[in-house]
Amino acid sequence: MPILNTNQHDPNKILPIEYDWAREYYEAGVNNNWVPEEIPMQDDVSQWEGDALTDSERQLVEWNLGFFSTAESLTANNIVLALYEYVTAPECRQYLLRQAYEEAIHTDTFIYCCDSLGFDPEYMYGMYDRVPAIEQKDEFVVELTQVLDDDGFTIESTADVRELLRDLVGFYIVMEGIFFYAGFAMMLGLKRQNKMVGTGQQFEYIMRDESLHVGFGVDLIDQIRTETPGVWTDAFESEVVELITEAVELEQIYAREACPDDVLGMSAEQFAQYVEYIADRRLGQLGVPEQFGSENPFPWLSEQTDLNKEKNFFETQVTEYQSGGSLEW
Ligand code: FE
Ligand code: MN
Repeated sequence: MPILNTNQHDPNKILPIEYDWAREYYEAGVNNNWVPEEIPMQDDVSQWEGDALTDSERQLVEWNLGFFSTAESLTANNIVLALYEYVTAPECRQYLLRQAYEEAIHTDTFIYCCDSLGFDPEYMYGMYDRVPAIEQKDEFVVELTQVLDDDGFTIESTADVRELLRDLVGFYIVMEGIFFYAGFAMMLGLKRQNKMVGTGQQFEYIMRDESLHVGFGVDLIDQIRTETPGVWTDAFESEVVELITEAVELEQIYAREACPDDVLGMSAEQFAQYVEYIADRRLGQLGVPEQFGSENPFPWLSEQTDLNKEKNFFETQVTEYQSGGSLEW
């Protein structure tokens, strides 16, 4: 039974499961349950109200909260308003609902941080309008998927499937897989220096969720490619490489502007290199040749967090993922 747009089976009948991988992502997501309110913010509040942070560090926190708060919501909207209509395999829809819930948790994180740190919501959400590097990232992804927003869009031809793939590359690979990562590195770098530890821990939980989202997106893209011979043309692959290259440039601009000085013992150049390293990783997941050849400048980050786990997801899930709010990688 095809994964997309099918009337050949009942979308309300999930058993027998055909796409086991989708079911496994669902179960892994459930095992990662958490809510932001579990994480104490007292120390963050005293640091934020006192003088523990430099001006650059404060800006970095504000920008990342500002960027993620809109990006999480764009991602959730894309799942519910665009993807859900076309991805009809019931076990994939079950995961999309799970993911949409996780995006709601992520949105809740920014409500919780805003409340506890005393941000003016207009100020935080206004980051999107005030900071061109943030607006450009969001617009880049949204523009990629505009065809799907058209009321008249349906999937009939291979070219239509390609439009859907462009959306999947835009949201799963570029937004969740690249645009989130300089921000993750910055917030976890702060946490590593015992600054804004509660906020950093929330970003760690989000990053753990996002590594599953990216993995699901990659497997979904693969399955659609398998089921739609001729959709992944050389021209489309070049387009994907170009999109990812442009995304890297935008993310590097963001990284340099959000982190202008050597804060955290991490330089803007290292963030730029980290973005290239991540982008190569995403290309590799899509089976496309790497473009940058950059080393990971922050080995502590991949040890601590997601990258090895992403790789070993299916072999290691039993021991690596556990119920409750514990953050064990
Ligand atoms: Fe998210
Ligand atoms: Mn996500």
